[in-house]
Amino acid sequence: MAYFITFEGIEGCGKSTQAEILSRALQAETGCQVVATREPGGCPIANKIRAILLDADNNALVPLAELLLYAAARAQHVAEVIRPALAEGKIVLCDRFTDATTAYQGHGRSLDLALIENLAQLATGGLTPDLTILLDCPEEVGIKRAMARINAASGAREERFEQESLRFHQAVRKGYLKLAAENPARFIVIDGTRGIQETAEAIHNAVVPRIPQG
Ligand code: ADP
Repeated sequence: MAYFITFEGIEGCGKSTQAEILSRALQAETGCQVVATREPGGCPIANKIRAILLDADNNALVPLAELLLYAAARAQHVAEVIRPALAEGKIVLCDRFTDATTAYQGHGRSLDLALIENLAQLATGGLTPDLTILLDCPEEVGIKRAMARINAASGAREERFEQESLRFHQAVRKGYLKLAAENPARFIVIDGTRGIQETAEAIHNAVVPRIPQG
């Protein structure tokens, strides 16, 4: 049955690791088809916008242009991937969505929160996740993990946000916690400082009872 789950948190909190583990578990246990995707990106056109957004050479990108690029990528991703999958009754797991824009461009870059909300409505056509997992961890822990991952990976170094100050990431983390406090029915906050398996179990135990049956 259609269900839309998003993963949120600062860089290196473990979102992509946990989204992959949960995706495999839900596929095996529910018999439902699971679509795992991510933002920015998730489809070829949005992936091109991702390359612009995450390239550290683009440090001249102004906050408003950054915000509009996220909105453009999201509009394409929602129309091309997320809405069709939900219409087919699939479970969609998305690594970052509109809350990331509120946390990063709103709380991190101090852009107007009402403008961000209006753009989110426009880009998604009002689509809101059924459930959002916020993996919370201190910025020092997240950035250390994210830089280790980037240094070990081959290909493009997607590190424009990792290069921001710890203060920026602290503002983003606080923004996420505020969003979770304001939307308690939609958010589950999970401690992201524990080991991968322990975190996966906590997520599994929190998510599975909430997936609608049939
Ligand atoms: P995110 O998607 O939130 O940026 P990742 O899932 O890519 O984070 O994790 C960043 C790096 O940290 C990866 O190399 C991953 O293997 C590692 N990692 C993820 N979760 C944990 C954890 N709970 N403990 C230690 N390392 C982790």
